[in-house]
Amino acid sequence: MIYVKLNEDNFEYDIYSLVKAFYPKEEVKIGTEDTINLDDILFTMEVQYSQNTLTLDGKQIDIDYSNRPDTKNRLKLAIYESLHQRTGKDLPWGTLTGIRPTKISLGMIEDGASDEAVASYMKTTYLTSQEKIDLSLEVSHKEHQLLSKIDYDNGYSVYIGIPFCPSTCLYCSFTSYPIGLWKKKLDDYIAALEKEMAFTAEACKDKSLTTIYIGGGTPTSLDEEHLEKLLSTIDKYFDTKSLLEYTVEAGRPDSITYEKLQVMKNHPVTRISINPQTMNQKTLDLIGRFHKVEDIHRVFGWARELGFKNINMDLILGLPNETIEDVQYTLDEVKKLAPDNLTVHSLALKHSARLNYDRQAYEDYLIENSQKHMDICLVAAKDMGMSPYYLYRQKNMAANLENIGYSTPGNEGLYNILIMEEKQTIMALGCGCACKFVADHGKTVTRCENVKDVQLYMDRIDEMIDRKRERLREDLKWL
Ligand code: SF4
Repeated sequence: MIYVKLNEDNFEYDIYSLVKAFYPKEEVKIGTEDTINLDDILFTMEVQYSQNTLTLDGKQIDIDYSNRPDTKNRLKLAIYESLHQRTGKDLPWGTLTGIRPTKISLGMIEDGASDEAVASYMKTTYLTSQEKIDLSLEVSHKEHQLLSKIDYDNGYSVYIGIPFCPSTCLYCSFTSYPIGLWKKKLDDYIAALEKEMAFTAEACKDKSLTTIYIGGGTPTSLDEEHLEKLLSTIDKYFDTKSLLEYTVEAGRPDSITYEKLQVMKNHPVTRISINPQTMNQKTLDLIGRFHKVEDIHRVFGWARELGFKNINMDLILGLPNETIEDVQYTLDEVKKLAPDNLTVHSLALKHSARLNYDRQAYEDYLIENSQKHMDICLVAAKDMGMSPYYLYRQKNMAANLENIGYSTPGNEGLYNILIMEEKQTIMALGCGCACKFVADHGKTVTRCENVKDVQLYMDRIDEMIDRKRERLREDLKWL
């Protein structure tokens, strides 16, 4: 264990995230207690805050305590320096531990800063590596170009969550329940969603709807009849024909049938996702995806046959026992299919995932990700005519890297940019979903969450709608 002792509770989460980035496998405790059982301690650090200085392990740093962001940066730089000396390690993103590193570069580009100014700022303030600065700049310029074509400020987007899956993947930390257990309640679930749709359409009637994204879970774990019901209900409340983008994250190939693809095609869905995660059968078996590699090829072929022109595929790097050769094999197979988007995730070991809480069972498994893995994905994406257009990071990501969305020109997922860069209000409907209310051109962002339990969601739907009404009134003044 690593113990960081503070003289007062302040910046605990930032300190925790940075220490954890250097020592991903070590337990990290942050506290103000003087006495702690030292038996398991690898080392301790001590942070003392006072009016004009902060002291890290006896080293004094001048601060202006009233300037919180600056104090936080200086503290993180000092901790980084100390941990760099201990480990000899550098982190690709430097002291940046947040989810949205491109918010910094995009914000500066929007304010007219040059690439040199952005690079210099990221390097000196956060110690970000040149490689990640270049990536941030490329992504931010693409985002800037796409966002400048749309009136996102006067619009909103809708996310609809279907929290069911055929089975639970080993690494899953999302709100997801086995569809088999909920088959008899799907009408009730869609009825609760309809209440939310009716409220949302009315409450946002003076704003234009930019995109719809149906995610999960796995939306195509609904049978054909319920998928049709869901999409028809959406058509009833929203003007789906004038959307800039309408995505269904079909997701797992074992949930997709020709008929379900036809249902989506009969509605104005413009973009779908068919997510293999890997093209290696041994890994699919290991992570609890009960389908064959051939199913991925077959389902993709059906989607093209039916005329879907914008298909995304998700991959995960760092899956158990996958070598870099396995990743290369996956990329070679994906290239044969030639999707329009490729989203590459670095495995994040989340607390609630079986891979984490049952980790003893998997401790001998290789879990490997590196810049080399990211680089071969970049090469494959470029071979398919794609470039990176959005990125984000998560907690506990393998090798401290990032998730990158690639796209062929004109097929970029707009919703992904709007939510990740917090540019637009997202009305999120469904169990476990969280609305994001974006005000003052992104300066203020508040959240409003629905409960994660399916039965409670259905039972308490009116209460959740009331909460959203209140937030829309108070945070956005839309009502
Ligand atoms: S498909 Fe996604 S949401 Fe469903 S169990 Fe797997 S990781 Fe979780």
